[in-house]
Amino acid sequence: MDCIFCRILAGEIPGEVVAETADTLAFLDVMPLADGHVLVIPKTHALVVEDLPAASAASLMHMAQLLSAALCREFGASGTTMGINNGPETGQTVPHVHLHLVPRFPGDGAGSLHSAFSGFAAEPAPLAKTAQRIRKSLEAHPPESFSSDDDL
Ligand code: 5GP
Ligand code: ZN
Repeated sequence: MDCIFCRILAGEIPGEVVAETADTLAFLDVMPLADGHVLVIPKTHALVVEDLPAASAASLMHMAQLLSAALCREFGASGTTMGINNGPETGQTVPHVHLHLVPRFPGDGAGSLHSAFSGFAAEPAPLAKTAQRIRKSLEAHPPESFSSDDDL
């Protein structure tokens, strides 16, 4: 098994686990961006969110909800930044879906998700055209044809 998060799940390498459910595990990031930086992973190995069973994706978000509240309570965070680098080209370094939860504080200077795109200068296509393209793609692949929805 060469997936480091599957190895944490299997107990082969240590992790500071903070919560576990039937289909998710939450543990501290080994190189935290802030105290309380947690990673939530599905127990099912998948590279990207689209490959997860829908129930597993839903559990991931439910765990994020509970943990975000806990981080705000316990660390006095005023919010959390939640993020998934979803695919190797997005900066994902571990090939197993993981949701980052980073506690945020006034004046911490970390910026919003938008700041990750601050150098993005491309001229946007007309919104109506972009929306139409996405609607057409979804019509061609309705939820009932999306295998991940089978188990919802
Ligand atoms: P990514 O860049 O893929 O979104 O984030 C991967 C995260 O996993 C990084 O923040 C990194 O610090 C964390 N990480 C990598 N290896 C380990 C490990 O062995 N244990 C833990 N707890 N976190 C890890
Ligand atoms: Zn894995």
